[in-house]
Parts: sequence; C-alpha cells; structure tokens
Amino acid sequence: MHITSEALLDALRNQGLRITAARRAVCSIIAERHSEHLTAASILDAVQANPDAAADQSTVYRTLDALESSGLLVHSHLGHGAAVYHLASEAAHQHIVCSRCGATAAVPAGGLSEWLDDLRRHTGFEVDPTHFAVTGLCPNCAR
Ligand SMILES: [Zn+2]
Ligand SMILES: [Zn+2]
Ligand SMILES: [Zn+2]
Repeated sequence: MHITSEALLDALRNQGLRITAARRAVCSIIAERHSEHLTAASILDAVQANPDAAADQSTVYRTLDALESSGLLVHSHLGHGAAVYHLASEAAHQHIVCSRCGATAAVPAGGLSEWLDDLRRHTGFEVDPTHFAVTGLCPNCAR
C-alpha cells in the first residue's frame, strides 16, 4: 500500500500547516507519481502547471521539508544533480547510477544485508545504503 495524498495532507496538518491549493497539489503529485524519481524542481514544475495551485518555490520546498520531517517522504542522491524524493512506503532500494550516461537501476536493500553486516562488524556503523547511489558503468557503456 502506498501512502496516499490524504495521508500526506494529514501529516502537514499535524505539523500545524494550513492546507492550501499549492500544498494539496504537491501532495497529490508525490502520491500519484510515487514510482518516479522526482526532484524538488520537477515537483515545482508540475505544481506550477496547475493554474489553481499558485505555488511559489519556497512553499513547495517548505512542504517537502515538512513531509520529510513527518517521516513519510525520504530523499536520495543519485549523482551530481539534485536530490530525488521517494515515499517512505516505496520499498527501500539502493540506486546504481552510470557515471557515463546517467542510467539508473535499483537494487532491493534486502539483498545488501550481508555487506551491511560486514560493515557493522568492521566499523560498528548502522549503514543506510539508500541515501546515496553507487556509481559504475551500465551494460551499454561498459561494452
Ligand atoms: Zn529510487
Ligand atoms: Zn541527503
Ligand atoms: Zn551508461
């Protein structure tokens, strides 16, 4: 089950934010396009495409911050570009990005448990493998 737009709006209400047309638009874009890697800029573009929403950049960014503090939204870094957003209900995954062409792939985080156990043994760290991507060459570029 994916987090719904209503659940996102509830999280904003719980933080004392007023539900405006702009905030409603941000929440429905994130809920509808949950399988995409949306940047703050692409969310802003999509919100501004809706003439009723009248959203400025700071409203969109502050809404994203509030959703992140509520724990329903997380961000990851795929490379040099802007961070991308995921719903926290999206299965945890590690990203791999091609350093030549930018192609991305996702690996379920569960498959990394041996490596994470190893890191914990050696360093004592609880590692979050989903925050940053690993880079390499995709099959096309490696040929
Ligand atoms: Zn992803
Ligand atoms: Zn970050
Ligand atoms: Zn490539």
